[in-house]
Order: sequence, then structure tokens, then C-alpha cells
Amino acid sequence: MDLVIKNGMIVMATDTFKGDIAIRGGKIAALTQGVHLEAREEIDAEGMLVLPGVIDGHTHFSDPAGGLLTSDDFLSGSRACAAGGVTTFIDCAVQEKGQSPLEALKMRRSEAQTHAYVDYALHMAFTDFSEGTLKDIPKLIEAGVPTFKLFMGLGKAAWMADDGALITMLEQARDQGALIGIHAENHHLVERNRALLLREGKREPRWHSVSSPHYVEVEALRRALYLTEVTNSRLFVFHLTTAEGTRLVGEAKGKGMMVFAETCPQYLLLSDEKHEGPEGLHFVASPPLRKAIDNEILWRGISVGAIQVVSSDHSPFTRAQKSSAGSDFTSVPPGLPGVETLLSLLYSEGVKKGRITASQMVEIVSANPAKLFGLYPSKGSLAPGADADVVIFDPAAQKTLRAADLHMNTDFSPYEGMEVIGVPLTTLSRGEIIFKDGAFPASPGRGMFQERHYREQEWEARSFAHGGERSR
Ligand code: MN
Ligand code: MN
Repeated sequence: MDLVIKNGMIVMATDTFKGDIAIRGGKIAALTQGVHLEAREEIDAEGMLVLPGVIDGHTHFSDPAGGLLTSDDFLSGSRACAAGGVTTFIDCAVQEKGQSPLEALKMRRSEAQTHAYVDYALHMAFTDFSEGTLKDIPKLIEAGVPTFKLFMGLGKAAWMADDGALITMLEQARDQGALIGIHAENHHLVERNRALLLREGKREPRWHSVSSPHYVEVEALRRALYLTEVTNSRLFVFHLTTAEGTRLVGEAKGKGMMVFAETCPQYLLLSDEKHEGPEGLHFVASPPLRKAIDNEILWRGISVGAIQVVSSDHSPFTRAQKSSAGSDFTSVPPGLPGVETLLSLLYSEGVKKGRITASQMVEIVSANPAKLFGLYPSKGSLAPGADADVVIFDPAAQKTLRAADLHMNTDFSPYEGMEVIGVPLTTLSRGEIIFKDGAFPASPGRGMFQERHYREQEWEARSFAHGGERSR
């Protein structure tokens, strides 16, 4: 064996036990209990949790938004991944109007591949639904990109998928074995609300949440769910934020629909009160922060299996970038950093506070995203044969979150000063130590593009991503 991680508490979605993990040739070779295998190198993980690497299914590195690039590029962002226990990220290639999606994919992939420090994949964001574009769908799937993102609204009329586009894409994805993911906000309602607020001179950051309140998500989501039902297709919901949205997704699942949802730590932990005060504009995100009651219902949505995935929607900006166009809520680039704090926050606020179990945490940040996005079983599992993407996690370590100590390329953290319990100590990617003792001993550009492929029987059997339901 190349490496054995000894005596750790091995936490998987389905099982937890104290034992050893043996690694050979970058893959998990064996899991053992009470049997010590010989290896060239050993790590003693006594007192530690040993987790499968986190898959962050939603990042934005070097992403142009509001005319500014997000402040993490593929190197700083993917190093922050390693520090946070994230061993695979899925970023996004955005098709320009009139551009071939294959061309957009090629460009984005080459941008990532020079620098990526951990493994990565890409969703394809469609903005053009002409026939020429749709012809590329089989080629995208063949190229390992079977997940397509549509914007129902985002303050960007040019990117918007109208109902016709949504119906067409749902059916294409259904017939060809792909998955449609939506940004569920009703564009027209946001435009109307913004106009009303600006007319009254309401420009401060706190009006951001008011411009896109819960009903903006609920309307788009309800429509998308109905279209999914009548076309007998399947749907993934990016960044679910509301109590009512959680109920709608739960109901759809209850009917047996193939509907899956993601939320993010900011929607579980923060509310729109953050917009009050001098820091208010830094919390502008898309979708906006909601109310404390939404936070609690989203947690419950995870624990009952209505929500399958928690990702970061990492969209970092520096303080200077956030305020570069003034404090008018319509001109602040929306987004929050989060890739590095995802796992610690879920452990500290989720597992330690009894809202979810450690196995459920592994399920929502690793096993489920692997299955939902077509990375399973080489990612999202510690079973023999899987890539040796492993996090050694100290469940007792305490840490005060501070932007200055984190590795994301921003001087702002939405969790500044917050105490967390539970910190990733060592991260391995394909058997290689990529983060240890606060250092990054591996080479930039080592991350590999992951071609993702669904196995059709997974859709047929509906055998995955049913959250807590499956293990009860
Ligand atoms: Mn979005
Ligand atoms: Mn996003």
C-alpha cells in the first residue's frame, strides 16, 4: 500500500465505524477494522473523523458578474477548496448569445485546467435556445457535461430562459439523459419591484431583499415544477432559499417526481438583517438572504430529504469591488464567498447542534452531489475503487472565522468572528496530500477535469438522492 490512514472514525453516508483506510495508486484499496495493512506511509487519525472529499457543486471562479470578475481565480479558489476539504468543484461555463456551447465549454475548460489544484467539472449555462445550440446537446453529454443551468431571472434579461425555452430544455434533457438546473427567480417581478423601489429613492442595500422577496422564487419554482410535471421530466433547483419553496419541492418529491434541490450555508445561517448597518452591502447575494424562519425550514428540508445537496455558490468579491459602484443595491455585484467554510459550517452549525447527523452531512456534501451530477462512484464514496479523495477532520478543534486567516481571495467573510467547532486538518486528492498544517504541498494545475456520465438505470430506479429517506 502507498498510504494507510489509521484509527480514524470513518464517516460515510451509509455507515460509520472506527478503522483504517488503505490507499494504493490514488484509489481507495481497502477499508479495514482491526487489521493493520503495511504501507510506505502512515497517518494516525486517532480522534479524527475521516470523510470522503467534499464535492462543491456550485462555484464561480473568475466569473464576470456585474462587470467585475469574482475575486478568486481557479488557483486561489481551488486552493481554498483544498483548505476547506473540497476535493472536487463544479464551476460553470456560460454560453454567450449565438455562441456554440461546445466552444464555451472548451474555453472555460482550458482556463480551469492550467491552474486547478483539485479536480473539477463544469455545468453548461445555456443563454441561447436556438436550433443550432440544441444540436450541441448530445456532444456536450458525450464530453461529460450532462447538467445544464437555466436562468429564469437574475436581473439579466439577455440570459433569461422563458417558458418556451424551459419546456424545450426539460424535454431535451429528459430524452437525452441530462439534468436541467434552474435559478428560480421571476425576472419580471424583480424588474417591477426594483422600479417601484427606485422611484421612491430606496437604494440602500436593505432594499435588495425587498426587490426579490420569497414570492419571486416561489412563482418561478412553482411554474418550473408544473412544467416538469406535465412534461414528465426531471428538475434540479439551484440555491433554494425559502420555506415555501422547500414545501413545494417536498410535495413534488412526495408525488414521485424526479425533483432535487440544493441550498447553501448562507441561506441556512444568515438572514436579511445583515443588510442593516455599514456592512450591509457586502451581504448582497443572488438570490437574496431571507428570514430566520426560512433558515429553520431549510434545515428541516435537509433532515427530511426534501433538499439533497448543500453547495457554496461561492461568488467572492473584495470589499473594494463590492463598493466600487456605490451602495445602490442594483449596482452591487451579488455574491458571497464560501467554498472554504462550507464543511466547517455544516459540521459546527448542523452536526454539533443536532440538526443533521454526520452521515447526513456526508450525504449532502459528497455522496448526493456525486450521484446527482454524474460523478459517482469514483467520487463521493470511500468504497474500494473510488478515488482516494479524503478529508481528515478534527471534530474538536475550535476556530474563529476571519477573512484574514482564510485562503479565499477576499477581505470579506460573511461569518467574520464566528466560532466554529470542527476543522479540516488534512486533505487528500487521489491519494496525494494537497493540504496539511495550513500548507499546500502539491502543484497547481494537478486538478483533473472530470467527465460526468449518468448511468441511465439510476434515473430508472430512482435509486439515489432521496436524502434521509433511504437510510430510514
Ligand atoms: Mn444562481
Ligand atoms: Mn451561482
